[in-house]
Amino acid sequence: MFRKILIANRGEIALRIIWACKELGIRTVAVHSDVDKDSLHVKFADEDVCIGPARNADSYLNMSAVISAAEITDADAIHPGYGFLAESAHFAEICQECHITFIGPPPEVIRLMGDKVMARRVFARAGVPVLPGSEGLVAGVEEAARIAADLGYPIIIKASAGGGGRGMRMVGNEEDLKVALDMAMAEAKAAFGVPDVYIEKYLEHPRHIEFQVLGDRFGNLIHLCERECSIQRRHQKLVEEAPSPALSPALREKMAEAALAGAREAGYVNAGTVEFLLDGQRRFYFMEMNTRIQVEHPVTENITGIDLVKEQIRIAAGEPLPYRQEDIRIEGHSIECRINAEDPLRFTPSPGRIRIFHVPGGPGVRVDTAAHQDCYISPHYDSMIAKLIVMGNSRTEAISRMKRALDSFVIEGIRTNIPLQRRIISDPDFERGELSTHFMDRYQQPLETPLAVSETS
Ligand code: ADP
Repeated sequence: MFRKILIANRGEIALRIIWACKELGIRTVAVHSDVDKDSLHVKFADEDVCIGPARNADSYLNMSAVISAAEITDADAIHPGYGFLAESAHFAEICQECHITFIGPPPEVIRLMGDKVMARRVFARAGVPVLPGSEGLVAGVEEAARIAADLGYPIIIKASAGGGGRGMRMVGNEEDLKVALDMAMAEAKAAFGVPDVYIEKYLEHPRHIEFQVLGDRFGNLIHLCERECSIQRRHQKLVEEAPSPALSPALREKMAEAALAGAREAGYVNAGTVEFLLDGQRRFYFMEMNTRIQVEHPVTENITGIDLVKEQIRIAAGEPLPYRQEDIRIEGHSIECRINAEDPLRFTPSPGRIRIFHVPGGPGVRVDTAAHQDCYISPHYDSMIAKLIVMGNSRTEAISRMKRALDSFVIEGIRTNIPLQRRIISDPDFERGELSTHFMDRYQQPLETPLAVSETS
C-alpha cells in the first residue's frame, strides 16, 4: 500500500480523498494555489505545497509544479480527483515516467475514452448500442449535411475531445447547420486545442443514466449499478440519484452488461463511469465513458456501502477487487443536490465571504464540502461549494429527507441555489420520477412565482 498520496485537487473532492487516506492510514500532501492557502484541504492534509497563483493554468493544471510537489514530498501516488488533470493521459504518462502511481486507469485507456469517436467505436465493437451518428470525425459542411439528412434532424454536433458540456451544439434543421458546425469547431478548438467534431442523432427527451464500474489489474470488472443524472442545466448535472426510478431489474441487468462489455473491450482498470441516454421507448445508447471519480459518486456509495475512493486507491496499489458481482447489493435510495454559489434566478456566480454556514445533519444525511464559516468563495474556481446527499429506505423517504435537509442548510453572505433545489425536489414530476434532460427547461424562463430568494439563501 502507498505511504503517502498527493492530492492534485482542491475543494470538497480533495477533502474527500484525504478522509479515505486517513482511514487507510496513508499520509497526505495537499497542493494549493496562493489564494487557497487557508483552505480546509490544506489544513487537514499532513503536508502542503503551494504550486502557484490562483489561475488554474498556473497552479492546479500546472503539471510540472504538481510533479515537483510530489517529488519534494516523496509522495508515491497522486490522486487527481475530478476535473483539472483527472482525465489527462499526458499527465498520467508523466507520473508513470517519474515512478509515481497515478490513481486512475492507464494512460492509454484515458486517451482512448477521452477521444469520444474512438470510445464510440470501442463500445460498438463490444456490441453496445451507440447513438446513431457519423462514423468518425466530420470534415466539412457537405459531409455534415449528408450525415444529418440520413439521421434526420435534430442532430447534435459534439467535440471529440469534449467534456463538461463544452463544444456541443444542437441543430434543428439544415439552414442552421453551417453556422452551428463552424461554431462547434471554433469552440472545440478554443476549449480542447483541436477542432475535431462528430455528429449524433439528438434524442428529444432522454434520461441520462450512468453505470459505475470498478476494475482491478487482474481482469476483474464489476458494476455498482446506475445513477440517474437527468436533472441538468446546460448539460451540467444538478441533482443525481441512485438507483434510477426508470429502470426495471431486467433493463438494469441489460444496461449493466453493456457497460461491462464496453469497459472490458477498453481494457478498463480502476473506477469509471459509462454514460447512456435512455429514450422514451426504453432503448439505451452509449454516450461516453468518464475515466475518473465522478462528483456524484456518493449516491452509489450510499446504496452499495462501498467506499469508491478507497477502492480506487487499493486498485492503484495493485490489490485485487475484494468483491465479486454477486456480492454487490443495492439497499435503499440516495439523492444528491449540488449546492452552487450562484444566483438561483439568474444562475450567475455569487462569489464572496460566507458569514454563516450551518450544515444539516441527522439520520441519512451526508454533506461533502470544503466550505465553512468565514471562508471566501473565490471567483477563480467552480461554483459548486457543497454536495448534500441523503439516504432513505425508499425514494419517498429520501425525498422527504432531502426537503428537510435543504430547509436546515443555512448559508449567509453569498447566494446559493438552495431555493432552486427545494423547488426541484418538491416538483410533482420529480416526486413521480418523471425525469428527462429537459426537466430544467421549466425554470429557464423568468419564473411566474418568484423563488423565495433572500440573502440567506
Ligand atoms: P460532456 O462530456 O461534455 O458532459 P456528454 O456527451 O456527457 O458531454 O453529454 C452531456 C449531456 O448532453 C447529456 O447528459 C445530455 O443531456 C446531453 N446530450 C449529449 N448527447 C446527446 C444526444 N445525442 N441527444 C440528446 N442529448 C444529448
